Amino acid sequence: MTMKKKSVFLYQASTAEVQVGPMRLTQYPIQVLLIFAKEDNQSNGFWWACDRAGYRCNVAWTLESALECFLDKHQEIIVIDHRNSKYFDAEDICRSIRATELSEHTVILAVQFMENSSVTACYNELVQIEHGEVRSQFKLRACNALFTALDHCQEAVEITSEDHVIQVGREIFCFVLTESGSYKCKNRRKDSVDVKSITSQSSDAPSLQTRRYSSMARIHSMTIEAPITKVINIINAAQENSPITVAEALDRVLEILRTTELYSPQLGTKDEDPHTSDLVGGLMNDGLRRLSGNEYVFSKNMNLSHTHLPVPNTISDVPPCIAQLLDNEESWDFNIFELEAVTNKRPLVYLGLKVFARFGVSEFLNCSEATLRAWLQVIEANYHSSNSYHNSTHAADVLHATAFFLGKERVKGSLDHLDEVAALIAATIHDVDHPGRTNSFLCNAGSELAVLYNDTAVLESHHTALAFQLTTKDSKYNIFKNIDRNRYRTLRQAIIDMVLATEMTKHFEHVNKFVNSINKPMNDGSNTECTTNIKNFPDNQTLIKRMMIKCADVANPCRPLELCIEWAGRISEEYFAQTDEEKRQGLPVVMPVFDRNTCSIPKSQISFIDYFITDMFDAWDAFAHLPVLMQHLANNYKHWKTLDDLKCKSLRLPSENNN
Ligand code: AMP
Ligand code: ZN
Repeated sequence: MTMKKKSVFLYQASTAEVQVGPMRLTQYPIQVLLIFAKEDNQSNGFWWACDRAGYRCNVAWTLESALECFLDKHQEIIVIDHRNSKYFDAEDICRSIRATELSEHTVILAVQFMENSSVTACYNELVQIEHGEVRSQFKLRACNALFTALDHCQEAVEITSEDHVIQVGREIFCFVLTESGSYKCKNRRKDSVDVKSITSQSSDAPSLQTRRYSSMARIHSMTIEAPITKVINIINAAQENSPITVAEALDRVLEILRTTELYSPQLGTKDEDPHTSDLVGGLMNDGLRRLSGNEYVFSKNMNLSHTHLPVPNTISDVPPCIAQLLDNEESWDFNIFELEAVTNKRPLVYLGLKVFARFGVSEFLNCSEATLRAWLQVIEANYHSSNSYHNSTHAADVLHATAFFLGKERVKGSLDHLDEVAALIAATIHDVDHPGRTNSFLCNAGSELAVLYNDTAVLESHHTALAFQLTTKDSKYNIFKNIDRNRYRTLRQAIIDMVLATEMTKHFEHVNKFVNSINKPMNDGSNTECTTNIKNFPDNQTLIKRMMIKCADVANPCRPLELCIEWAGRISEEYFAQTDEEKRQGLPVVMPVFDRNTCSIPKSQISFIDYFITDMFDAWDAFAHLPVLMQHLANNYKHWKTLDDLKCKSLRLPSENNN
């Protein structure tokens, strides 16, 4: 049996179709060149393997014949015998082939020693190479051709040889830029669209038509492309080869993608519960129904000297009753209202000192405990104790929740010390100088702050800006004074990002990004893998920090029932006060259900939990593992449901109120 006899069979090879983006290319049978010193089992093994795989095969026994054959056929795979240097120099052959212009896309394989000469072993080897490197080279060649052509054109594009046939992979296709701006790449044999026919169908004057094409071409050749544009282009391309049902579904996808509010669920207009729509309108709008001329002036509380405050000198000399309470600070069920009472409504300084010490904040910032204390003091003093909800007890509560979350294994494993410090500072400052009114109210009232921040994230911008002003105004409060510029900038950036994330207009954006980037990929690996992956991606750390402060900010429905009820009472009272004032001043009432004469607090809590809390805490629990919180949430929800079923509108059943 000699190899030459077999060549007759080798021409029955078949073609394969390869998809590259929107292009469908035909790959003609792979050509293989065997360069062997002599015929033996190994060379025969490859020969018969090529036969089995449907490849075209040539054999060469010398350098000269190998080169001649390669220059003629440009084989995709070359197998060189590298076992027997006595007869010829394999490396020299390899170098000579590589020196030729067209060898760039050829895969060269060296047979080092008599490995496995069985046809099956050789076949497996070759097929693997075909589907790996050869296929990649093939796609690369197609893309190269395409980009080279694109580079040379300004308008609609058709890539062909001189006789209107393109031979990228020896397939015929043309590439057209349509009037709507999407690329179409069609198989010319089926239903090709070429530029000339489009142009001649148009009734526009040629010059106008040319201009339009060239400007579209320019738009499409923009190198700075927004991710959403890339996504839309990919979908456009995928539509090309899709069945009509898929193409239509993708049309709907495109329509959604082109709208701006990607992360905001659309509330039904008719049957929506008014509690939900009021909460959503009140918390997620920036006051589109804004009136001018009704300036809202909130109480200025910029007092920086607070000698009247009972402030400890160090964490170790707090009064025993406070110290005793703080012993339980690491528990989720810690009672912040007791701390509020024993500290004379200044829980933030005491809890802050304890928690910041636990997380080594002074050490990280290289600042004294005295500076930290003075800072906590000035921040707390700028919370309004007259607000029923947004006072320093709420800030202390959010700080407490943040510290609790930072203690969870997965959170700890995903973040750096800088992130921990940033999160604790962000929680502390996140509502400073809150006027007890919502963003919508401030915008409607045309308040100074709304004007300053252009009706956009008004309160959150103010909390952050004021906190940095207060901190850096005087070196005795300046906890950042001893850290270097770069560290300060990173820390500042992280703090700003977290406080701005508490703005409710972005609620669904933050939750959805967290679910998509953290929860979903998390299921694919081990815990260590997961946290390592997160640590390597600062963007993911950012999503975690945002989610953490958001959850800490609205964790009150996950607190033990009594605490949850107290918080619900406080936020309702603050909303009622806002409605009272809106009515008094003739401003639009942003949350009409929060009218103290008619409001059902249980209904409002059910809506708040249904709309904002359940999904977010499900996602956060899936990451941080928080069974205690989830249990409280379920209990509390049941509490509100029971009251609502009994048509009770207050915080407790009348019988419980008497207790
Ligand atoms: P922040 O103003 O930073 O505290 O953002 C949290 C938002 O959630 C605020 O607008 C609160 O009014 C709102 N919120 C928090 N807890 C509740 C609750 N239990 N019921 C209704 N709204 C709440
Ligand atoms: Zn808050």
